[in-house]
Amino acid sequence: MAWQSGGRTNNELITNMERNGLIHSAQVAEAMRKVDRANYVFHMRDAYEDSPQRIGYGATISAPHMHAHAVENLLSYLPEDGAGSILDVGSGSGYLTAVFHRIAPRASVIGVDHIQGLVDMSLENLRKDGVPLGSGNGKVQIICGDGRQGSPEHAPFAIIHVGAAAPEIPVALIDQLAKPGRMFIPVGEHSQDIWQIDKSETGQVTQTKLFGVRYVPLTDAAKQWPPT
Ligand code: SAH
Repeated sequence: MAWQSGGRTNNELITNMERNGLIHSAQVAEAMRKVDRANYVFHMRDAYEDSPQRIGYGATISAPHMHAHAVENLLSYLPEDGAGSILDVGSGSGYLTAVFHRIAPRASVIGVDHIQGLVDMSLENLRKDGVPLGSGNGKVQIICGDGRQGSPEHAPFAIIHVGAAAPEIPVALIDQLAKPGRMFIPVGEHSQDIWQIDKSETGQVTQTKLFGVRYVPLTDAAKQWPPT
């Protein structure tokens, strides 16, 4: 089903995903309609396929159905007043960072990637897509750094999405979750699963294993893309 949802336009891709039960939330569908995937891929012919695609530097843009699952999982933790902070670790192409902005247009959305070339590329993609860049509420900011450390100066985060698989859950990210807050993170080396980490209003942390996945590793920059 996941691979049969492709379309000729962004709108068609989202409509097919809804029809095939890969997007349940109208709010998520609406946000994904506002982010034209053509602005985030290498090859226009791949833009509206429901599959992951290479974006260079050993990274891939995830399949749209994975992006939809992630946002639907995190949806109930969107700050009630629409403001607050969202962290996207391993922001890669910038696609999902843009979806977070569209679903929470008043929030401060921070993307972190450890490869400068990807940071530059994602900023260009976001600009093409009309996403307001900069710091603070209503803006998207992409920083270059080790996402395993999170971004202490922007914490706490109501939502943390991790787009690369960690051998274990980075403690700094749990520390930087708001009360309440939720993290969606792939964990594991050979076999990987999505884990949902919830922090309650009183600071109690609950970890739930959701389903099996395949992501690129959350690792050291030099291991992913050795400098020449
Ligand atoms: N959500 C992105 C996924 C990109 S692939 C998208 O759909 O475009 C995973 C990303 O994680 C890559 O861009 C890779 O550079 C990044 N990454 C891997 N390890 C990292 C680390 N330690 N810190 C920051 N980013 C990392």
